[in-house]
Amino acid sequence: MAAGFGTAVAQPAAQKAAQPLSVVQLEPGLYFHRGQDNVATRENGGDIANVGFIVGSRCVAVIDTGGTATEGHALRAAIRAVTPLHVCYVINTHMHPDHIFGNVAFAADHPQFVGSATLAEAEASHEESYMRALKRELGDLADGSVIVPPTLPVTGSLKLDLGKRVLRLQTWKTAHTNNDLTVYDEASGTLIAGDLLFAGCIPVIDGAVLGWLDDIAAIRAMNPRRVEPGHGPLDAPWREALAAQEAYLSHLVRDVRAAIKQGKTMQQAVDTIGQDERGKWRLFDIYHRRNVTAAYAELEWEQ
Ligand SMILES: [Zn+2]
Repeated sequence: MAAGFGTAVAQPAAQKAAQPLSVVQLEPGLYFHRGQDNVATRENGGDIANVGFIVGSRCVAVIDTGGTATEGHALRAAIRAVTPLHVCYVINTHMHPDHIFGNVAFAADHPQFVGSATLAEAEASHEESYMRALKRELGDLADGSVIVPPTLPVTGSLKLDLGKRVLRLQTWKTAHTNNDLTVYDEASGTLIAGDLLFAGCIPVIDGAVLGWLDDIAAIRAMNPRRVEPGHGPLDAPWREALAAQEAYLSHLVRDVRAAIKQGKTMQQAVDTIGQDERGKWRLFDIYHRRNVTAAYAELEWEQ
């Protein structure tokens, strides 16, 4: 693992011996890393999403890999510190850069890369803009980061067995994105929600607000013992977090519908709607106006 003296400098960052990413064991065999509540910056190195792994008796499944190749290598080092078992699946909950750019660190393990059947197309159509943004935000910290698309596409649901540990994967109605996928770990009763759940950080609509409200109701009806959010504290009470997210999105739908009915323009809607939510969410000023725009574009077709 360790690079020899004098060679380390010449190697791309992603190939240096990686320091293990900090992880906590939430349940036996279920490990997660808490990303920072921020946009990607050079200071945080793009480490802004919650990522994790689950260990079976036969092999390991990784669930999201972080915002860069470097973070992926650090996650792989964290797995190696816990178990020598093979990484057989790398699962992506959706297309966003903070969840997928670490995939490449697992290429040499030859896992199945697993994602929604709509993920590959979504990644391909966003690849250019994601790469450009990553380089702008992180500079050389983005070196080695490339998109590794899914080799095992999921439509509807799929069971994966890690050896005495069954994961149930499920795709969802377009919500946070059009390629959202969750992982339910039967052994611990944990639903890994990806960005279908934001805890404390403002939810970001890159799919459809109405679909997301339907998905929220479906997650509540599943009633898992535990839900891990894609962003926010790992031990956040999930029912409260889900209810807060539902309230924000419902508020948005109600006010955007009213604005459209009153003949307000998208700009007028963006300038007025939801400002009273500001104090409730981290990263509100970065994403709220974009959410109003997305909701307006979706809901104006109802008229
Ligand atoms: Zn996301």
